Amino acid sequence: MRSINRFEEPDILVRKKDEWTRKFIESGKARPDNSKYGHRQINTALYSMSHNKCFYCERQLKGVPSEIDHYIEVAENKLLAFEWDNLYLACDNCNDKISNLSISVNDVINPCGTTDIEIESHITFVDEEITALNGSELGLQTIQKYKLSSKQLDYLRAKELKKFHMTLIEIQRKQVLDGRQTLTAQERALLIQFSHPDKPYSLMFKKLLEANGI
Ligand SMILES: [Zn+2]
Repeated sequence: MRSINRFEEPDILVRKKDEWTRKFIESGKARPDNSKYGHRQINTALYSMSHNKCFYCERQLKGVPSEIDHYIEVAENKLLAFEWDNLYLACDNCNDKISNLSISVNDVINPCGTTDIEIESHITFVDEEITALNGSELGLQTIQKYKLSSKQLDYLRAKELKKFHMTLIEIQRKQVLDGRQTLTAQERALLIQFSHPDKPYSLMFKKLLEANGI
């Protein structure tokens, strides 16, 4: 999870939110119309805000099932069905919260409005495994609610780690050939780019690089 800066409210919501909310409440339906809150303008803004990644687990969402997630469930508050600040982007792993509805959003880390420093004071990684830093309760509940330690995510993160290790092996091969032990600026940049916020699982790589003094 990385901090996400919310863009300005898309024009379609500014113009239509009140009308859509009123009609949804009048309809008596349990769920709002996803063709409305999933409008192209809204989708585009959410994808751009998160560099096309799931807000919770940092999975790249191009070509994989994703959903617009209501941070506070519509079942809890229908008035938030089309509220811009309540619309998040999640992969199918993280949006499947039925078993964890008992954990309130008040007891987990909110990627919007939380700084990276705050996030990193609660969650960290050991290889591909996510853990709560120093047993942080907030970290533990976040991992549990969004299933951030699921087997599926461990597998995907391990796959990405493999790419990093292949890059590292190639660098080490060149170091041996050149008879040097230090990284060139270019090699360092190549490794650091894995931790850029637009890359998948960037926090995992940030922690890995820190642990190795890079
Ligand atoms: Zn996810």
